[in-house]
Amino acid sequence: AHVLICAGTGCTASGAAKVEAALREELAKKGLDKEIMVVETGCHGFCEMGPLVIVYPEGTFYVRVQPEDVPELVESHLYKGRIVQRLLYKEPVTHESIPNYNELSFYKKQMRMVLANCGHINPEIIEEYIAVGGYEALGKALTTMTPEQVVDEMKKSGLRGRGGGGFPTGMKWDFTRKAAGDKKYVVCNADEGDPGAFMDRSVLEGDPHRVIEGMAVCGYAIGADEGYIYVRAEYPLAIKRLRIAIKQAEDLGLLGENIFGSGFNFRLKIKEGAGAFVCGEETALLASIEGKRGMPRPRPPFPAISGLWGKPTNINNVETFANVPQIITKGADWYAGIGTEKSKGTKVFALTGRINHTGLAEVPMGITMREIIFDIGGGIPGGKKFKAVQIGGPSGGCLPTELLDLPIDYDSLIQAGAMMGSGGLVVMDETTCMVDLAKFFLTFTQAESCGKCTPCREGTKRMLEILTRITEGEGKETDIALLESMAKNIKTSALCGLGQTAPNPVLSTLRYFRDEYEAHIKEKR
Ligand code: SF4
Repeated sequence: AHVLICAGTGCTASGAAKVEAALREELAKKGLDKEIMVVETGCHGFCEMGPLVIVYPEGTFYVRVQPEDVPELVESHLYKGRIVQRLLYKEPVTHESIPNYNELSFYKKQMRMVLANCGHINPEIIEEYIAVGGYEALGKALTTMTPEQVVDEMKKSGLRGRGGGGFPTGMKWDFTRKAAGDKKYVVCNADEGDPGAFMDRSVLEGDPHRVIEGMAVCGYAIGADEGYIYVRAEYPLAIKRLRIAIKQAEDLGLLGENIFGSGFNFRLKIKEGAGAFVCGEETALLASIEGKRGMPRPRPPFPAISGLWGKPTNINNVETFANVPQIITKGADWYAGIGTEKSKGTKVFALTGRINHTGLAEVPMGITMREIIFDIGGGIPGGKKFKAVQIGGPSGGCLPTELLDLPIDYDSLIQAGAMMGSGGLVVMDETTCMVDLAKFFLTFTQAESCGKCTPCREGTKRMLEILTRITEGEGKETDIALLESMAKNIKTSALCGLGQTAPNPVLSTLRYFRDEYEAHIKEKR
């Protein structure tokens, strides 16, 4: 038998380290410490229920385990083989106690491909990644494929960038591959900054080698010998595990010179970001790596032509790179068979707000929001009614009850006035004021505006003033029209994505919940 303990940030915050210490102590007391292995893993995604402990070979899934539960767990399950019923998860609707991982409603409709290893391997031991097929994709690419073939495979897979815009990944790689220059770079954007989003953090904490391998494959495909992972300094566990992973890969010759005897060289460095939201914008991110102030610049030239230190640079986010190894190993056709016609594969969403199962869920593209929120997320707590879900963070928009059955993909979300964004889902119940919600997100983007261009710097400030007076009962009859016209102007004239998308929460709440704005204005003090 062996016991997995989730050591992701969520479970660590709820006391996983103390549970692990108690478990090791108790096993030693009973003389079971040589027979039963205790393994620290990355995030299982069921963060609401942490600390999580899973006992194999049965796969018994224990939730909210506390140090004082450990003696009973060891005596009953590990010594006598009897499941501890009171530590099992109870479904919120049926109140059934579910003993097995795969039987939980939270996991049943998920398709865990990017998160396949998270929670199952020890992310600090490279051999565990290799044992589940890790670095096979890099070996296959370097020894059996040309760089052009790798790019073609990525194009055929239909993978689109998971950081927000959804640009086709293979096409992006091709631009950089074809750009003139003998020095090129690969950059991983791990500057996840949307309120409520923690997909990238969990992948880096739970399976860092997958991202490293994806970056190395990209380096080979585009002709780069150097890469940077730009990760926010607020993610200390992710940074620690990345450092360990890079060192282990170097020690085994999977990073460095002449990898797999192919003549391909690739080195990786970590750059810690100071947490400015705008540094998630690719040109600001590159400026920050170069040691300059993180401010966007106009494009073109795009980074594919002139990026880091003026050299051709390919930038993708964590989840995009994490998809690469499986595409190379299993093939583009396999990958393209998952999802919808124009949005292939899976997407990881962070479920937060008024939802029973806060955590991380990976689902095939094309699933409906109803399935995500009610089947996987367990519905709304306290018997309250669902009102809306904000998708795509401060750049995205909200979807109301009428759109719960919308299949989720890049294009349908844009049509509905929202966007995939990086994958944050904030669920609201009937008690949420949607004008307050719009104000919350605009307050965030206004504070994070870098100030370089006037529409974003001044425009978001003026919009926020209007929203504030509406919520304080001081709104004017003309305010809604003014908000709409300012929003449209900012969207078309701001320099970078932060400003261009900042008005989205206002526009989408106006589209679906205009009556709430009007009610605030009518209820003038
Ligand atoms: Fe800076 Fe906003 Fe202009 Fe982007 S849109 S450059 S964040 S001021």
